[in-house]
Amino acid sequence: MTFHSLGSASSGNLYMLESDKDILVLEAGLPLLQVKKALDFDLSKVRGTLISHRHRDHAGHIKEFMQAGIPVYSSDDVFGSQDLSSLRPWQRVIEPEKTYKIGEFRVMPFPVLHDVPCYGFLINHPESGTILFLTDTYTCEYSFEGLNHILIEANYSDHVLEENIISGRVAKSMRDRLMFSHFEISKVIDYLETLNLSKVSNIVLIHLSDDNSNEDEFLRLIKEEFAINVVATGKSRVLKMEMNITPY
Ligand SMILES: [Zn+2]
Ligand SMILES: [Zn+2]
Repeated sequence: MTFHSLGSASSGNLYMLESDKDILVLEAGLPLLQVKKALDFDLSKVRGTLISHRHRDHAGHIKEFMQAGIPVYSSDDVFGSQDLSSLRPWQRVIEPEKTYKIGEFRVMPFPVLHDVPCYGFLINHPESGTILFLTDTYTCEYSFEGLNHILIEANYSDHVLEENIISGRVAKSMRDRLMFSHFEISKVIDYLETLNLSKVSNIVLIHLSDDNSNEDEFLRLIKEEFAINVVATGKSRVLKMEMNITPY
């Protein structure tokens, strides 16, 4: 299994999981053209696109995916937030805690805690094992067993945010919004501590804030806490990495 990050930021999120036979797209916050370019204009393996929530940086381009005949799997809230009436055949409404088969992927959505309805996803595939995808949430009330890889938002750090507020770079009101909508790095660590990570090969930090994060520090903190490979995605940096059930 190859994991691709084509962009991971408040300007646009889009990731892909690519197995021998299937591709599952996660989020449609970037133009379909970027997916086409990453796949040498061959979309024949793309089985569907999962969308966590209605915000532009995750759902801004779903129309293009549907127009290309790619089914989009998401909540009623997302499909109700845009005029997609002519594209109904490509809408797949998914409900929390049910399992859906998309190609050889098995996907279970579950609700997370954002300022609009938002899903996290538990994704299983024979090549990768079980992947947890968690973004745009300030904590997670679910626990999971048997995880092999974790894609988790590490949006901001309290102390970087504080420095930005003091220097006037970021408005004070931003803190109130972030506290109840996005994952702060120490809360990410607290949450990871609650999980059984014995079979986890990779932790991928996603959706780092442009202003209020510190990538090097986040990587160091996670490495210090957990003896697991950790990488961070970037705003417009393309990342491609192997995500298999055995690391070697
Ligand atoms: Zn977002
Ligand atoms: Zn959001």
